[in-house]
Amino acid sequence: MSKILSLLLFLVVASNSSILHFKKYELNGREKGDTLFIIGGIHGNEPGGYFAPSILIQHYKILKGTLWVVPNLNFDSDIRDQRGIYKDMNRKFAHIDKNDPDYQIVKDIKKLILDKRVDLVLNLHDGHGFYRKKWENIIFNPKAWGQAFIIDQSNIKTPKYDNLGEICKKITSKINGSIFSKKHVFGVKNTKTKFHDEQMKLSLTYFAITHDKPALAIETSKNITELKTKVYYQLLAIEEFMNVMGIKYKRDFKLNEKNIEKILKEYGNMTINGRFKIDLNQIKPFINFVPIKIKNNCFVFSHPLGAVIKDNNIYRTMIGNKKIFEFKPEYFELSKIKPKITFVVDGKDTDATNLFAVNAKKSFTVKCDNDIRVNVIGFSKKGKKNESNINISKKDIAKRYSIYKDKDTYRVEFYDKKNRYIKTVLVNFTK
Ligand SMILES: [Zn+2]
Repeated sequence: MSKILSLLLFLVVASNSSILHFKKYELNGREKGDTLFIIGGIHGNEPGGYFAPSILIQHYKILKGTLWVVPNLNFDSDIRDQRGIYKDMNRKFAHIDKNDPDYQIVKDIKKLILDKRVDLVLNLHDGHGFYRKKWENIIFNPKAWGQAFIIDQSNIKTPKYDNLGEICKKITSKINGSIFSKKHVFGVKNTKTKFHDEQMKLSLTYFAITHDKPALAIETSKNITELKTKVYYQLLAIEEFMNVMGIKYKRDFKLNEKNIEKILKEYGNMTINGRFKIDLNQIKPFINFVPIKIKNNCFVFSHPLGAVIKDNNIYRTMIGNKKIFEFKPEYFELSKIKPKITFVVDGKDTDATNLFAVNAKKSFTVKCDNDIRVNVIGFSKKGKKNESNINISKKDIAKRYSIYKDKDTYRVEFYDKKNRYIKTVLVNFTK
């Protein structure tokens, strides 16, 4: 329970600032131990690299040691499925201009990387092709990046985890026993950055190792088309790093593709300005006239990769690179009052003052102060502007106004006498 609560507190995403900042999660074991820092989402078109850490946050419990997880380093690019909408963030770690849109993000993540509590850093990617030591063809070759641990050099001068090459080799031989296809075997790619790779000198991992912090990248392959497969390999590799570091963990599912596929479809819920709560697994693709403010709306997601993109006058709700639904706003000021709201549901009183939804079998009547205007979306009665004190049954509401796909769920909205929006209560007709 406390884990869920702390998750919710971290998940406030303001939509109107054009640059979304990453969130950092800490999963602490009861027993002290080493700290592994996992960074996902530096490249927005590499979803294996950000859905894997989102599963760590939601489905793993650390028993010994600590995980720090940033699932969405380049969040603006992740939700747009683009490598870097402000150019490649992974080339900004040697130098970044103060006016660069990524400036604050790079500055903040550098500070976390160099935190003395962090023992090892993993940067997650989906790379091109399949890395092989010898040239086989255009997909399988030494220049490819996929299915490999990328190290800048074999050894660094740190008290712990200085032998990156050896560690990766050991992990490779472990996880290659759990792969699905020979194509997918992992290798260790040493870019020998210091001598050979000017581009990699600008990267996150090279910044880390030149500041005496062990770091490397995990690359699954862009040529593996199924997201569940890439996420499976990412988690498999991350678990082996935890094993090497003595970090003990539990997860609430068995690690296989089938379960990952299911988890990837759990979108959780979204709350708009603390007044309207939506089940993202049920919501229809498009909802009209959602009451929000003109700016500074607060969208809170239970999923670490939830965010809203405003595109002209349409708001697009995303979980990572997956579009969940779009809505058209109707702009209101928010009311500061919190009136008592009662729903008489199937003849029984329910206090809905603090509820986002009520269940009804046959009918409901809304009761509240006369100053409050009640609007049941999809219901109308001639001459009635305020729809309180009317007994309404399912057949009185046009079915197309249900906001959920497989349910009969309708919006009841409340406004004060100056027409400021108070809240929405959903009525879910159950069978
Ligand atoms: Zn990448």
